[in-house]
Amino acid sequence: MKLNERGLLVIISGPSGVGKGTIRKALFEIPDNNFCYSVSMTTRKPREGEIDGQDYFFVSREEFERRIKINGFLEYAEFVGEYYGTPLDYIDRKMSEGKEVIVEIEVQGAQQVQERLPEAVFIFIVPPSRKALIERLIHRGTDSQEKIDKRIAKAESEYPIAYKYDYIVVNDEVHNAADRIYAIIRAEHAKTERSIHKYYKLMEGKE
Ligand code: 5GP
Repeated sequence: MKLNERGLLVIISGPSGVGKGTIRKALFEIPDNNFCYSVSMTTRKPREGEIDGQDYFFVSREEFERRIKINGFLEYAEFVGEYYGTPLDYIDRKMSEGKEVIVEIEVQGAQQVQERLPEAVFIFIVPPSRKALIERLIHRGTDSQEKIDKRIAKAESEYPIAYKYDYIVVNDEVHNAADRIYAIIRAEHAKTERSIHKYYKLMEGKE
């Protein structure tokens, strides 16, 4: 039995190329999970195999900027020349239904969420080594050399921000990393500040 019935907002962040997307997919393969993925919106073009509405909502810059104006994002950021954002509608509804909402975003966006919703769980994914990260960015094979260089420079500027997060998870092996995140989510539900309200009600015989 879980005392905290509201789902958690779980922010998976970290430098580009660290494997956030792969870990997120592995998380959803864990049997009997209660996760729901917040599909982001972006102005970047789809990569081969990416599906609109599943990997991202792919929109034009005009459409993205229209949504910024109407306050339609929990957070958004411009990352190497393209917009990325987390649509607000949906997240709160899913958490009320008891779902753990998994958001996978880069570090500027995570900082905005920290300011707006500090009760979210912030997880920073790190590579097993600097070399491993650079090799991943080079060998991903989907971006131009210019984009790769920009992503490497960005990753190098972002790694010190880890101290602002609640947890640091090393992506040494994708299923290990996903298991660690699963363990974090379970432990977070048992935190006193999330559970005590319901516990007192139970002990007072009010529920
Ligand atoms: P990619 O182009 O490789 O799919 O994503 C580039 C970066 O944007 C990644 O670090 C990814 O985690 C991040 N990202 C994806 N969706 C969002 C979002 O909704 N908001 C923010 N701030 N970053 C995002």
